[in-house]
Amino acid sequence: MAKINETHDPALTSWVLSANDGRTDFPIQNLPFAVFRRQGTQEAWRGGVAIGDQIVDMAAALQAGIFEGDALPAAQAAAEPTLNHLMALGAGKVSHLRKALSKALRAGSKDEAAIKAGLVPQSQAEYALPASIGDYTDFYTSIHHATNIGKQFRPDNPLLPNYKWVPIGYHGRSSSIGISGQSFKRPRGQLKSPDADAPQVKPCARLDIELEMGIFVGQGNELGESVPIEQAESHIFGLVLFNDWSARDIQAWEYQPLGPFLSKSFASTISPWIVTMEALAPFRTSFAHPADDPQPLPYLSGAANSAEGGLDIQLEALIETSQMRNAKAAPARLTLTNYRHAYWTAGQLVTHHTVNGCNLQPGDLLGTGTLSGPTLDQACALIELTSGGKNPVQLSNGESRTWLEDGDTVILRGWCEKPGTVRIGFGECVGTVLPSA
Ligand code: MN
Repeated sequence: MAKINETHDPALTSWVLSANDGRTDFPIQNLPFAVFRRQGTQEAWRGGVAIGDQIVDMAAALQAGIFEGDALPAAQAAAEPTLNHLMALGAGKVSHLRKALSKALRAGSKDEAAIKAGLVPQSQAEYALPASIGDYTDFYTSIHHATNIGKQFRPDNPLLPNYKWVPIGYHGRSSSIGISGQSFKRPRGQLKSPDADAPQVKPCARLDIELEMGIFVGQGNELGESVPIEQAESHIFGLVLFNDWSARDIQAWEYQPLGPFLSKSFASTISPWIVTMEALAPFRTSFAHPADDPQPLPYLSGAANSAEGGLDIQLEALIETSQMRNAKAAPARLTLTNYRHAYWTAGQLVTHHTVNGCNLQPGDLLGTGTLSGPTLDQACALIELTSGGKNPVQLSNGESRTWLEDGDTVILRGWCEKPGTVRIGFGECVGTVLPSA
């Protein structure tokens, strides 16, 4: 697991002054990666690094000759139009680049003038998917979400017997994963109400969010090889916010016996900035299953995973309805939770995914599953917040929602705060529902 080093020093400040205000998601201790270009141009997509309200254009910084030695291979890969090659280099080489960026962006750096010439304000940027995502797997790592959903179908036996032994997941569709800012049409599909004889094809009437984190795979593993738990984190490049939009009525009719299909593959949205595991090092937490639960099998157990496998990341979902937008009112919070409540760690997901020899590849995306916390106000999907559609959520402007309506925008945010550290964040993951075609 990545260790705390000089790049995490809370005393560090940047010559980019907006990075030093203590509120930004992107202080010099964060340094996340994205793929961007200036809005409204046909410029080439290239990698960038967030600092305050600016972006270090990695292609420009490379041209300026900022990087050398150990940092050069990763700097070259970080300037490409996708970050798959950077991810493939592995955490060690990416760490050399992080150290070089930290030095170049520090107050008093000799590189200030050279980098400043290539800075792009985030307000003038647009983003692309940061990697070509070959495969996408979605897990189900919140026991609270699994229990809340299970109760709606099986009140007496909400959790299926495998849940506490196996990190449950399914293979999703990567082609429909989009970047923050995307709008998508309300999906259509087969819907069948319980009292109807036959399904009908109609627009989804129970459109929902799922607040998750997305885990970008870094270095891959060969087909036939498994990744031991002790090495799992070295195969993770970093994390993004992830909204796994879900059509609950399509899902209810289609999911048995093979699981979700068209209820999930119409759109999923990720945030543009990938926060590396190294940046998250100060925010690790211990991990344990409750003492009365089955303990993870040996291949999912490790000293480091127990000591610091968890992550203390605050997560928030907000909704901005058309009415709020027209009134210029602030979005309303739907939920606030924390990633540390997850029943399986990110490392355990990698190790379990490869226990059969499945080959993960750089740029693959793992969804954590809906990250609902232990109480109802920490639930991360409307199906939980409304108890299956029975109790609408009251919004701050007097509106209510049972399910998403056309024109609704959902905003996910995530951040880490801890005494003795500098706050870091993930930016935003934003998506908007358009009317069905
Ligand atoms: Mn999901």
